Amino acid sequence: MLNLILFGPPGAGKGTQSAKLISKYHLAHISTGDMFRMHITNDTPLGKRVKQILADGLLVPDSITIEMLEEEVSNNAAAEGFIFDGFPRTVPQAEALDAFLASKSQQIDGVVQLDVDEDEIKQRIAERQKISGRADDDAEKLLKRIDEYFSKTVHVIPYYEKQGKVVKVNGVGNIEDIFNNICQAIDGFR
Ligand code: ADP
Repeated sequence: MLNLILFGPPGAGKGTQSAKLISKYHLAHISTGDMFRMHITNDTPLGKRVKQILADGLLVPDSITIEMLEEEVSNNAAAEGFIFDGFPRTVPQAEALDAFLASKSQQIDGVVQLDVDEDEIKQRIAERQKISGRADDDAEKLLKRIDEYFSKTVHVIPYYEKQGKVVKVNGVGNIEDIFNNICQAIDGFR
C-alpha cells in the first residue's frame, strides 16, 4: 500500500503529474475536483448542490467532500494505494482522512508539495482556460480559488509537517524533470 497526497495551489500541475504517477506506481487517482465536475456534468443531486460553489471558486463544505471521498476510497478497495489530488484542502479534511485510513489500518505515507509561485499560477490558468473552458478558470474566480488556497488550504501543510511527511518539490520547469523529482521523493517514503 502506498498512499500519497499531491499538494499545491490551483494550476500547480497536480493533474498532469498524477496521470504520470498512477501509471508508474499503479495507484488509484482520486481528484475531488474531477469528481465534483463529473457530478455536475451528470446533473446528480450532489452535482446540483455543489454547482454554484464550484462556479464561485469556493470550497465545498467539509462534510459533503469527506463523505464523497470516503465512498470513492471504499469503491476502490482493490487498489494498491491512492494519490489524493485536491484533497485534503482543510485541516478537518486531513483529520478525517487520517481517521478513515486508520480505521482500515492504513495511513498517508507521504505528501508531495508542488511549489509554484503566484504569478506563474495565474499565467498557467489563463492558458488553461483557453483550452479547457473551465468556468472557474476565469480571472475573478481564479482569484477566489487562490484566496481559498492561501487562507485555508496552506494550513494542511503544517498538519503533515508535524508528522514529518512533507517533501517540497519545485513545480516550475520541465514536466519530466518535475516528475523525476517527485518520484525521488516518493521512493524516500517507501
Ligand atoms: P484546482 O486543482 O484547479 O485547484 P480542483 O479541480 O482540485 O481545482 O477543484 C475545483 C473545485 O472543486 C474547487 O475550487 C472547489 O470548489 C472544489 N473542491 C475540490 N476539492 C475540494 C475539497 N477537497 N474541498 C472542498 N472543495 C473542493
